[in-house]
Amino acid sequence: MILAIESSCDDTSISVMEIETKKLIFHKKISQEVEHSKYGGVVPELASRLHAEALPKILTECKSYFDNLKAVAITNAPGLSVTLQEGVMVAKALSISLNLPIIAVNHLIGHIYSLFIEKEEIKPMMVLLVSGGHTKLLNFNGIDNICEIATTLDDSFGESFDKVAKMLGLGYPGGPVIENLAKKGEIVVDLPLPLKNSPDIKFSYSGIKNAVRLAIESGNYKNEDIAASFQKKAIEHLVFMSKRAIKKYRPKNFAIVGGASANLVLRSEFEKLSEEFNFNLYYPDMKFTSDNAAMIARAGIELYNKKRFINYKDLKVMPRVEFKKC
Ligand code: ATP
Ligand code: FE
Repeated sequence: MILAIESSCDDTSISVMEIETKKLIFHKKISQEVEHSKYGGVVPELASRLHAEALPKILTECKSYFDNLKAVAITNAPGLSVTLQEGVMVAKALSISLNLPIIAVNHLIGHIYSLFIEKEEIKPMMVLLVSGGHTKLLNFNGIDNICEIATTLDDSFGESFDKVAKMLGLGYPGGPVIENLAKKGEIVVDLPLPLKNSPDIKFSYSGIKNAVRLAIESGNYKNEDIAASFQKKAIEHLVFMSKRAIKKYRPKNFAIVGGASANLVLRSEFEKLSEEFNFNLYYPDMKFTSDNAAMIARAGIELYNKKRFINYKDLKVMPRVEFKKC
């Protein structure tokens, strides 16, 4: 078995997964959403303190598996350095005390492997990663073969939901609140479709966000209409740019991963696209869309099979990492 730890942002999670079968044996997550909600976003110092409390709590619950462990998988990049460090410290302590090799896992690759929990890999696949910190189109052809088609110039898709929710005084995280509120609203606010005249495949959310700010300040619109109009345009931008990439690369398989892949309007828009362009569409199970250690264990198994081990002395936290361009 492999034990995995995730602490890159505001979720503390530990999982245990069987290496051969990819079966999830143990999985627990403690979220900090309530604690950060009153600040309208994640406060790094508070987050790291909460990880320091939650990690040992969860660890004692999976002590019975310690004798069966072959490795420890740990998210070491990308994310908040002070919170990544909390998980990394626990991984190092486990490695030293139980004499286990460490496997360093990229959190974004973890999001891709949320698709394959208790399943085999699907490849090749085009992946739309929509999370709190990233908005990327990737070509995935195995853990060592991932390239970036497009990324965002400014805010991420999830972050724009968080910022709009904050402007409307709706707390954090914004995604689920905005999605819910939008159900009651009408699309009456005129918002710009970003980069529509640029020939490139890339994302930008700052323009929509600023247009939403002006709409709120005008006092002419109801909150639910702002939410509905914003969500529609934000998703339209994803579809617009994904279409360009799909026409260029003609993928047979397409997946949406990351916290915002929970959005049902987003999913239904891509279902339409899958019919138009005839590809198979995949998303993670709802419970694995947001951050979790099960996806880290699953990616960890792939690296374990390639014997990609790292000594605790060499394990470092990397707040930012880049993919090679396609
Ligand atoms: P990253 O993975 O880029 O490091 P993160 O781990 O903080 O960032 P995730 O936990 O993967 O991000 O996703 C959280 C983000 O997803 C938040 O910005 C949240 O608002 C957004 N989100 C969650 N549910 C929805 C939804 N239903 N609609 C839109 N956005 C959503
Ligand atoms: Fe994430």
